[in-house]
Amino acid sequence: MSVTVVGSIAFDAVTTPFGTRDRMLGGSAVHFALAAAFFDEVHVVGPVGGDFGEAEYEVLRARGIDTADIERVPGGRTFFWRGEYGWDLNDRVTLDTQLNVFAEFEPKLSAASRAAEVVFLANIQPELQRQVRAQCGAARFVALDSMNLWIETARDALVEAISEVDCVLLNDAELRQLTGEANLVRAAREIRAWGPRAVVAKQGEYGAALFTDDGFFGLPAFPLETVIDPTGAGDCFAGGFMGYVAAHPNGELDHELLSRAMAYGTALASFNVEEFGVERVARLTSDELSERVGELKRITHFIESPVALRG
Ligand code: AMP
Repeated sequence: MSVTVVGSIAFDAVTTPFGTRDRMLGGSAVHFALAAAFFDEVHVVGPVGGDFGEAEYEVLRARGIDTADIERVPGGRTFFWRGEYGWDLNDRVTLDTQLNVFAEFEPKLSAASRAAEVVFLANIQPELQRQVRAQCGAARFVALDSMNLWIETARDALVEAISEVDCVLLNDAELRQLTGEANLVRAAREIRAWGPRAVVAKQGEYGAALFTDDGFFGLPAFPLETVIDPTGAGDCFAGGFMGYVAAHPNGELDHELLSRAMAYGTALASFNVEEFGVERVARLTSDELSERVGELKRITHFIESPVALRG
């Protein structure tokens, strides 16, 4: 089994109350791939410019990630995003988005990328997500992420893309904006009526919630004393979530399995926010990851003990 991801491969400029980075490796596909690579082989699909160098490739290759479908446009510039966070790290402002090489990109997947059984359409233009989806005929589980920019500028294509996947991961505000529904339970049900059988609402430092036809499952974010930069946390979550699915090629992809996948997503996202960009996840060990999943289980589990209630 392997995982294919299409999404942004980026240089990010980020300011948080704890520091600034003017140009660091980022992008939804990059954050996703570094997380998913703990579970399976990952193929990254997307373009970069001539400014994307060996050092950037090496971060991915060091984790065994397949970069054959990263198309380098020597005269072009890599996708660029600039964002800023205030004290409330759930709240960020996008100051600049430059699609650059993504504006002309037409994905042509290698046989290995097309054969993946798990596919993640990370945040990028919905039309590109659809083109990649169409080429991945062997997939048994496809999920999609998006953001307000695409809800506002390409809603019809996004709704089409959503109708072609098994699972949607969006943050609360995006779910509300997309459906026009204030209540998340209703918003998730509406999206499931468009086609997907699972919806994950990402809730930043408050955790994540899973909605399927078989029920609901929620996990808080892992409690951390130090949070430096939340950029890419959602993509790391998706990488852990989808990676766990990919690691179970024979298991039924039911509510129970997706609930366990949420734990790996939550643990990976928690490491991501401890440092800027990909810094922490790029040197994370599998022992550290397993230990945190165990800790997460301990702090979210309780033993039901009936008590005599009055009245
Ligand atoms: P997250 O914090 O999980 O939403 O992901 C942040 C990452 O998404 C950054 O590394 C950015 O490079 C990337 N990003 C920001 N805006 C966009 C966009 N409009 N399309 C694709 N990727 C984006």
